[in-house]
Amino acid sequence: MRYRRLGKTGLMASEIGFGGEWLERHEESESVALIEYAYEKGINIIDCWMSDPKSRDIIGRAIRAYRDKWYVQGHIGSTYQNGQYVRSRDLKYVCPAFEDLLRRLDTDYIDLGMIHYIDTPEDWNDSMNGEYIEYVRELHDKGIIRHIGISTHNPEIGKLAAETGFIEMIMFSINPAFDMRPPTEDIDDLFVGYDNALSGIDMKRAELYRLCEERDVGITVMKPFFGGRLFNKEQSPFGVVFTPAQLIHYCLTRPGVSSVLCGYDTKEQIDAAVYYEDASDDEKDYASVIASAPLHSYSGQCTYCGHCKPCPMDIDIAMVNKFYDLAAAQATVPESVREHYKSLAHTASECIGCGGCETRCPFGVAVADRMAETAKLFGC
Ligand code: SF4
Ligand code: SF4
Repeated sequence: MRYRRLGKTGLMASEIGFGGEWLERHEESESVALIEYAYEKGINIIDCWMSDPKSRDIIGRAIRAYRDKWYVQGHIGSTYQNGQYVRSRDLKYVCPAFEDLLRRLDTDYIDLGMIHYIDTPEDWNDSMNGEYIEYVRELHDKGIIRHIGISTHNPEIGKLAAETGFIEMIMFSINPAFDMRPPTEDIDDLFVGYDNALSGIDMKRAELYRLCEERDVGITVMKPFFGGRLFNKEQSPFGVVFTPAQLIHYCLTRPGVSSVLCGYDTKEQIDAAVYYEDASDDEKDYASVIASAPLHSYSGQCTYCGHCKPCPMDIDIAMVNKFYDLAAAQATVPESVREHYKSLAHTASECIGCGGCETRCPFGVAVADRMAETAKLFGC
């Protein structure tokens, strides 16, 4: 495993990291074993944006023996209310949720205290002026968080963060699909006016990466595989598939990027990501894949990130969307998918179309419309 300096934090983070959001899908012991396996492979950075007790307990159990060897991204403002994740800046919820994180991780410090998920200028202004940011600074002053970071999907917010001087690193969503411009008839349009490393990338995102490099603000990557969509020809916005090594290389060749936090369900998936470290230049070559791809837009496609929670009807929107995508990609709905879908506590037909989820979705997914389509497809 190679390690990269994470900007001005000075921490040496493994190029391949661990995104924790899939941990709750498995038995606790299975997920603990997965993190331990990652550690054996040299992975030393893990993100815990999740507020649910199970995910936090799993991470706590898995890293306890090697706490000082792990760098934990712990999110401030990821709260758990009435059994659901809720993003909040209200200290009434924020403080207990962060204390819960420390307790469940069985630690008295968090390496990277993340200002959790800001995507709008309004949220940025509110968060940066008031008790929320004072709390973050207080945690930092007391050494409870060693460094201040932020998570965002919006390059404009990332740029504001990089310019503050006190935010030392950014967790940002990067993959070739997110980075590309809207569709064009001529692939050459995507390669004009940028330096080679940033060919075809959207200007605002390119500016963010350059600014981070310039200001020594480290970047860790979330959603490097576009929720697995880039491994599937039908779902890939490019109409072609990539390998994990190609996608990891894409991320690691953006300026400022130190570590790519992949989500894992199995040890084989960890192996596939860590294989990057030994891959040849040909195996890592994403550019030829992109250049030969028929380009499409990704806008409006669900990455199963879960940021649209909470739903007043308790619908697990990410799971419903995932089952919909799995079913819709095939001529007939596979029985196994139908069964899994039907075993959900709440299905798409319960959607009341309130639209709350759509205001929170960073990818502009028309959730209410998809719920209606899903209910029609599965009949409930
Ligand atoms: S639109 Fe439907 S899925 Fe979205 S939050 Fe409202 S009820 Fe839930
Ligand atoms: S609808 Fe949007 S916020 Fe919700 S899981 Fe999908 S991409 Fe994430």
